[in-house]
Amino acid sequence: MTSTKTNGFHRENVECGYGLKSLYGMLPAEIDAVVGEMGQPRYRADQILHMLYSEFPRDVLSMRQVPLEFRESLSASGYGIGSASEIHRLVSEDGYTTKLLLKLLDGTLVETVLMQYKPKGVAHPRSTVCVSTQVGCPMGCTFCATGQMGFQRNLMAEEIVGQVLHFASLLQERGEHVTNLVFMGMGEPLANYAETIRAVRILTHPRAFGIGQRHITISTVGVMQGIERLADEDLQVGLAISLHAPNDSLRRRLIPTAGVNSVGEIVAATRRYFKKTGRRVTLEYALLEEVNDSPADAEELANLLKGNGAHVNLIPVNPTAGKFRRPSWKRVTAFERILKAAGIGCTVRVEKGIEISAACGQLRTDFTGGLKAKN
Ligand code: SAH
Ligand code: SF4
Repeated sequence: MTSTKTNGFHRENVECGYGLKSLYGMLPAEIDAVVGEMGQPRYRADQILHMLYSEFPRDVLSMRQVPLEFRESLSASGYGIGSASEIHRLVSEDGYTTKLLLKLLDGTLVETVLMQYKPKGVAHPRSTVCVSTQVGCPMGCTFCATGQMGFQRNLMAEEIVGQVLHFASLLQERGEHVTNLVFMGMGEPLANYAETIRAVRILTHPRAFGIGQRHITISTVGVMQGIERLADEDLQVGLAISLHAPNDSLRRRLIPTAGVNSVGEIVAATRRYFKKTGRRVTLEYALLEEVNDSPADAEELANLLKGNGAHVNLIPVNPTAGKFRRPSWKRVTAFERILKAAGIGCTVRVEKGIEISAACGQLRTDFTGGLKAKN
């Protein structure tokens, strides 16, 4: 067992639990330290990082630019890659949404989605990867396929980074690259805080993957402590909070673990986050027909948010187990109009790829029937 301390971070154990120390879970300074400990010059670390983040090797021995002898010593010392294997791929009819089911080293399954957007006249599409941070989710939201499957385990940073690189490698073959990253797949990122932030630091590090912090959004169901901690990090990532209801009783019906946090406290947290980071928080609101989508709900939401400066993202629900229905377009636009009339910034996010089970957790559920039927 090794202990690592870098940039104020402490990770008790760099092994990912399968007898492998994954290089994708390590910050550049940690790779420098490994290289130094093994008696190699520092530029070897740059070679390793270059290979990892430009060629996406599937094992240490195939890192061509690193001398074979050193690759072998790395491998003999337990360093590796630990790539997940793709066991299922679904592509939407328009080709812009791709959903993968990935099998991790211990056999657990997670979903990762690529959503592309290509306005006319633009050469390269915006390519957003949506990553999972947990296997299942402990929050149990009633409209969410992941929430309904229960919780299995947290993902390690390398398993989060690996999801992004899986798509980065696919895109590279087409001359494209990952432009944006959202933590909106399976699981609650702020309930797996340390590994999520470690993954963000690796993915944004200029010597590693190097994606801009401002191109990342972390979505949370409202883990208050995590939001406060995130505001204190030196990170410029976007934050989205899933609100889904204009009052506490309705919110607790949809998010049974919403617990003591009131909608008022969530709105106050968005203000504090903005004050500390200068970044506006997006409030997500899944529209569920005849549950939280009435004009009265919209009025109540408008009153709650007036003068707060938050932006609302309305998401017509992706039906999962069949309990909730997606509202008609008329009801969606009526809801939007009421918010806009009250001066609240608001957009409707139409979840794409509905025919390929695009709601988080749906593909895994379709594939295995939930968590119980693992593999
Ligand atoms: N756990 C975090 C991030 C993952 S879920 C969170 O809850 O914010 C990402 C987003 O997808 C959340 O806003 C969530 O409410 C939404 N979502 C989950 N199931 C959905 C469904 N069936 N239809 C539409 N949005 C859904
Ligand atoms: Fe978990 Fe988010 Fe799904 Fe709720 S919506 S169960 S917090 S993944």
